[in-house]
Amino acid sequence: MDCDKCGREAVMNAAYSGLHLCEEHFVASVDKRVRRRIREDDLVPSDATPENPQTWVVGLSGGKDSVVLTDILYRTFEKDPRIELVALTIHEGIEGYRDQSVDACEELTEELGIRHELVTYEEEFDVQMDDVVEKDPEGMAACAYCGVFRRDLLSKYAEKFDADKLLTGHNLDDEAETALMNFLEGDVSQIAKHFDASLGNFEERGEQDDFVPRAKPLRDVPEKEVALYAHLEDLPAHITECPHASEAYRGEIQELLYQLEENHPGTRHSIMAGYEELASLAASEFGAREEGDTDLGECEQCGASTTRDVCRKCSLLESIHAV
Ligand SMILES: [Zn+2]
Ligand SMILES: [Zn+2]
Repeated sequence: MDCDKCGREAVMNAAYSGLHLCEEHFVASVDKRVRRRIREDDLVPSDATPENPQTWVVGLSGGKDSVVLTDILYRTFEKDPRIELVALTIHEGIEGYRDQSVDACEELTEELGIRHELVTYEEEFDVQMDDVVEKDPEGMAACAYCGVFRRDLLSKYAEKFDADKLLTGHNLDDEAETALMNFLEGDVSQIAKHFDASLGNFEERGEQDDFVPRAKPLRDVPEKEVALYAHLEDLPAHITECPHASEAYRGEIQELLYQLEENHPGTRHSIMAGYEELASLAASEFGAREEGDTDLGECEQCGASTTRDVCRKCSLLESIHAV
């Protein structure tokens, strides 16, 4: 098969668009989609100047998604002094697995000359995920603990580094899975939260509260294309799956989406197109409802924003340390 743009040999064929692309045109098409997303989501505010640059903290796990995102952001803003990138890596204490991916993060940031910060569950919380999995005081999946701790550290350090944005490498498949899970679980408040966590309108919403606005500029790119991009560009990505990964429900949804996409190419894109519109409506409805609400307070133990006396992270840590 030949490239639709230049006739050279195609390296990929996207069923959802019907396009065949050679290496050069495929790489360019991924770059273009990420840059369009940055533009359409207004990630660079009009008042950002070389004298008043924006700090973007990028969650860099060393997996293909965050490595590709960091690489594209670097090349997009390499000559643009309005944006300063900080890569933030979180070590969960998973032997073997995370050590190798931290190496990948170090290799990438050294090569690109990006500031790299590493924080660990051990230093922050005095826990290692390997032990948490052993103890499992709440009878939950490993990812349920890990997600709470990771989100806490991402927010904490984004604030600490004075970030204007916190960017993560979620791809199209991740987002379509989460969208479908939220639908199937029937949880509209979760849909509203998901909107704020990734698709939020920064001009209107981000500035009012003390959360650092989030962004997911890789969310138009399917997982397979992210993997191909990392391979073709020879990026130092660590591809092994986490040994504790056990989100059974997400696995089922993944399988379902794979089948749907196979039989009806474009399903992931259409899910997201409709979902983002609905999520935006849900977020404004819930935002308006919450305005009169004052139950968002500070955690008694760590000061993080929470609707309870003690935040979820602190209560999980307490039960882990009690074992
Ligand atoms: Zn071509
Ligand atoms: Zn707390």
